[in-house]
Amino acid sequence: MPQYWVVGAMWDGRDDQYEVFLRGGYWYLGWEDDDQPTQARRRDQITKGDCIAIKRMLGARSREIEIRAVGVVRKLDKKSKRVYVNWLRRDVNKKVPARGCFSTIHGPFSGSDPWTTQVFGEDIGQSSVVITEEIGNLAKGVPEGARKRVWVNAYERSEVARRDCIAAWGTTCSVCGISMRDIYGTLADGFIHVHHLVPLSQIKAEYIVDPVNEMRPVCANCHSILHRRDPPHLIEDIQREMKKTANKPIHATPLARRS
Ligand SMILES: [Zn+2]
Ligand SMILES: [Zn+2]
Repeated sequence: MPQYWVVGAMWDGRDDQYEVFLRGGYWYLGWEDDDQPTQARRRDQITKGDCIAIKRMLGARSREIEIRAVGVVRKLDKKSKRVYVNWLRRDVNKKVPARGCFSTIHGPFSGSDPWTTQVFGEDIGQSSVVITEEIGNLAKGVPEGARKRVWVNAYERSEVARRDCIAAWGTTCSVCGISMRDIYGTLADGFIHVHHLVPLSQIKAEYIVDPVNEMRPVCANCHSILHRRDPPHLIEDIQREMKKTANKPIHATPLARRS
């Protein structure tokens, strides 16, 4: 089970690191370890797959804090003491009871605590758990042949990863720029594939997917073309090919059946 952490991003109450952390995909404790040994020890308990939330203080007397972003820890760098995070929900701006979270780092909180659900949302824990488990199964014994045939990988099938990818990128195809809804109308509501940019051969068993930076929405046609090769084509390669055919007319209406 993941542990849950609530952390700050405001140094000295005014120097806001939020954008730096979100853009860089990490968080770190803004104190020297010697100055804040207790907080440094808490930070050192963070492990891969844990969930982490950035909070904002709402004044010294407030009983609430504001949650700004939540994510899943994907890597720990001992040297720089950075905690690398997939920030899954940004600009959440939700007020929750403070629970004494007035220092830079608080935790570990348990996922079974209702307050944790309030802070992190219903299913953030699954973003790490579900995906690591699926990958575990995949790494364990799916024969090579089957892996090739079932080319949509565990991440691409994961509902949580899908949802986070679409929340970040929308439902327009990242290859051809078409929205399936523009062609099929309401029949295509909510229908979009997601494609994982990291080849499966580079993935290790306990890898945690970053649905925002490592996945893209793609239409079903482009997705099939991407996977006509293993490792898959790059999106840019397909776009380059498509430029060559750009002047040819596309049949916008179905062809009549040949008699
Ligand atoms: Zn497409
Ligand atoms: Zn794919």
